[in-house]
Amino acid sequence: MSQPPAVLDLFDTHAHLHFPDFAVDLGEVLARARAAGVRRMLTVGTDPATSRAAIEVAAREPDVWASVGIHPHDAAAADAAALGEIERLAEAPRVVAVGEIGLDFFRDLSPRPLQAQAFRAQLEIARRLRRPVLVHCRDAHEPTLRILAEHRVGEIGGIMHCFSGDVEIARRCLDLGLLVSLAGPVTYPKARALPDVARFVPGDRLVVETDCPYLPPQPFRGQRNEPAHIALTVARVAELRGEPADVLAARMSENGRALLGMA
Ligand SMILES: [Zn+2]
Ligand SMILES: [Zn+2]
Repeated sequence: MSQPPAVLDLFDTHAHLHFPDFAVDLGEVLARARAAGVRRMLTVGTDPATSRAAIEVAAREPDVWASVGIHPHDAAAADAAALGEIERLAEAPRVVAVGEIGLDFFRDLSPRPLQAQAFRAQLEIARRLRRPVLVHCRDAHEPTLRILAEHRVGEIGGIMHCFSGDVEIARRCLDLGLLVSLAGPVTYPKARALPDVARFVPGDRLVVETDCPYLPPQPFRGQRNEPAHIALTVARVAELRGEPADVLAARMSENGRALLGMA
């Protein structure tokens, strides 16, 4: 008897499906994702308004879940009212995480002290509500890891999303209890340390994401990214690790489901 073709079980753990980039054709985008084997997608808020929009998409689509949070870019607007709304939204149905939260010292769109303040406040929201966190970190690994350690992130769990560090940073994320998420840049010719990171992270601590509409994998660079393209990132990570793509995909999907408490 011949083997049936491998059916991929893909989980896009970080997407922004509720962004205006998908307003016209979200139905087609989701259809292409499902055809490619994407069984679960997590759509991630970046401020109170986009967090509400994320919840609305998750309420309509059975394979989409939501996360709510205030991105470091928007930290200057993270006053008590905004943080209170995030805490309230985090209890809505199908909200499985708080994020994305963190520090971005690359673009510095909000003052750094306010980024740190919003990050800490949301780590405490996540702790109160027992939700894992989705961490955004750009050019800010030392302060991000310090804050995560001070707030004992290992007790609530989380994902270092769109991982951009090296093996040493990955090891420190694992020591803190985080999962490491690889995105499209692992497929780029100039992937820097990411191929080593893809080989280093244990199979039970790794997940993948598109971060769509941003960061498309290599063949689609310059275009809008979408969840169906996660298959290319999985194929590259599997190649780097020397594992069958279907086995790795299922394992990473299981890692994400376990952390986020999904059936
Ligand atoms: Zn991010
Ligand atoms: Zn994002």
